[in-house]
Amino acid sequence: MDFKQYITVVEDFPKEGIRFKDITTLMENGEIYKKAIDDMANFAKEKDVDVIVGPEARGFVVGCPISYALGIGFVPVRKAGKLPREVLEVDYGLEYGKDSLNIHKDAIKPGQNVLITDDLLATGGTIEATIKMVETLGGKVVGIAFMIELGYLDGRDKLKNYDVFSLVTY
Ligand code: 5GP
Repeated sequence: MDFKQYITVVEDFPKEGIRFKDITTLMENGEIYKKAIDDMANFAKEKDVDVIVGPEARGFVVGCPISYALGIGFVPVRKAGKLPREVLEVDYGLEYGKDSLNIHKDAIKPGQNVLITDDLLATGGTIEATIKMVETLGGKVVGIAFMIELGYLDGRDKLKNYDVFSLVTY
């Protein structure tokens, strides 16, 4: 399946020089969205995953349907100030900016097998921060699944010790 034809590349968004990969056009097509999620869920099925962790907001767009497909839980990673209970906070760098991410401290139980999901791997900063949170809470990252990987940004170099799956690479 050539998922690329359903992803729109938007020039100069959110700022000049960025070629933004817009997955909303893929999501609008129910059949293709389902196929993409099924392929990602198939990767997860081989991993004995206990729980899925995904950063807002597009990490939810891929992580929640995979968790539904597998009948396992989903743990949101959110920007600062959004989660209501006690959080673990980690700073991270983006392809275009800097921020911090939070996770509920009790959301991962020590020893749980965790699949991390996001729509896109760019520099790897977001996922590196997410891995740090999962591991600090005692979880084991058994896989990381992306819809899209930007190969030219070498984000995979940060993820050498992990099993990384991506549907589409640019
Ligand atoms: P990284 O932390 O790997 O540099 O950036 C990845 C994060 O930024 C992901 O959470 C992703 O949603 C967002 N992101 C960066 N560039 C793009 C893009 O071109 N398209 C989409 N959909 N998300 C992007």
